[in-house]
Amino acid sequence: MSLDSEILYMPCPCGSGSKFKFCCWKKYRDRIDDSMTRARVVQAVRCENSGVYAPRPNREAQELSDEAREMLIEDHDTEKAMELLRKAAELDPEDASIWNNAAICEWEAGHAEAAAEWQRQGIEKANSYRNTFGFASMAIYLHALGRDDEAAGWLERALEDRLPLSRDVVVRVCFALALYRRHRDILDYAADSCLDDDSRVAFFKAVALANLGRTAEAAEVLRDADEFALIHPVGRYLECIGDGCTPRSVRSGEWPYFTLSMFPPARWLDEDLREGRNPFDRPSGTIVDAIEVLAAESFRTPAELLKLIQGREDAGMEELRKGLERLAKEDADPALPPGVTEARDEARRLFIHPIPKWKLELEYDGESEPEDEAERLLDGFVLPYNDRHCQLFSEDGDLPHELALLVVPQEERPELGMCPDVELVPRERIWDALSDALVDFFENCNDDKSLCEVRCDPMFGGPILTIRNGNRTESFMIAVPERNKWG
Ligand SMILES: [Zn+2]
Repeated sequence: MSLDSEILYMPCPCGSGSKFKFCCWKKYRDRIDDSMTRARVVQAVRCENSGVYAPRPNREAQELSDEAREMLIEDHDTEKAMELLRKAAELDPEDASIWNNAAICEWEAGHAEAAAEWQRQGIEKANSYRNTFGFASMAIYLHALGRDDEAAGWLERALEDRLPLSRDVVVRVCFALALYRRHRDILDYAADSCLDDDSRVAFFKAVALANLGRTAEAAEVLRDADEFALIHPVGRYLECIGDGCTPRSVRSGEWPYFTLSMFPPARWLDEDLREGRNPFDRPSGTIVDAIEVLAAESFRTPAELLKLIQGREDAGMEELRKGLERLAKEDADPALPPGVTEARDEARRLFIHPIPKWKLELEYDGESEPEDEAERLLDGFVLPYNDRHCQLFSEDGDLPHELALLVVPQEERPELGMCPDVELVPRERIWDALSDALVDFFENCNDDKSLCEVRCDPMFGGPILTIRNGNRTESFMIAVPERNKWG
């Protein structure tokens, strides 16, 4: 068996201070193979060491617990899962995972109070190993109940564990820290855990880095993360972190840590609003975060959310109100150049400002030269769009730019593999090159009307201009090839 030397020579996961190769490796080598990431190896060693992998004495309880877990994950049936977990906890009250799962069940179902109670009992009754997951969960549930003083104590207990057993534990602790916007602590805890190449841990680490202004490092963390594709919606959002996009957040300039799928309070809020219930009938410790999620993912408009918190004076409401007002203002359309209409780009863009698409109908007066038409289109349409939405030149230094031209004959869909003409152009010549290409286009026009459309792809960097005239359709794409790190 060959193992990555980074793994062999890392500090031993057991915390002895020796290198892994000279400490626990020999004991665990049979259970480790070279396809495992660092996080998986660390988790395997720590869990074996602590005995959590050992089968529980009560098999029936274990089976019930496994079944409940499946029911929760596959069917989202929290009631049935709770039924099974209640039985399991009676049979084997010393199995901490049963209590932890029961608490999660109640939490998922929107019962923060019950979640905290199950979790508290579990920590008391099952203490065969250090239940850091449970401590962090207590902090999360108590925060939702508005009991932040108690939550702080539990979070400190969780942070004392510098050898967390699994990736789930680190994710749970990061989640609790994220509720308090403790960016630096997230970075420290993730790095110390040696479990930070797990994709979910990497996600928290990257958001923390971005929130500290270290966006290039954030992008790098995500690129190196294991199983990145598994958390696709999060992955899509984070592709934008290193790409000059600005976060859409009620907290000015801050990247949100939570998504609807990972943050039950946002789902409860959304359901309450849909069913016509008052969300403030619930404990509202997480309502600011929940509102942030709905606003960031554009599930609800800022105006609608402002109405919801009208007259509320709970903690954090004043700041939230200001954030939502700012978002509402940003959503309002700024003045467009003459003749230009705006439409939403079809692609859904989570967490970043949705990028509009501009349309312009260009009519020739019968006298103008192709050069004049090209200039009109460039100065009145493409450049203002680029300035407002693409920020093409903001951080690309002297990297070569690429002008690609795709010609699609009318009534034909672009075929797979249809190849654009690509020209590499130095940065300062890019608009001249586009202008030349546009002159060519207008020289070959056979209709006195053109429909022009410009949009931006943040993965791509620059504007994509499409012009349709008679039976000609041409797309001009400007990009910085070296910037496309994900392609
Ligand atoms: Zn060791």
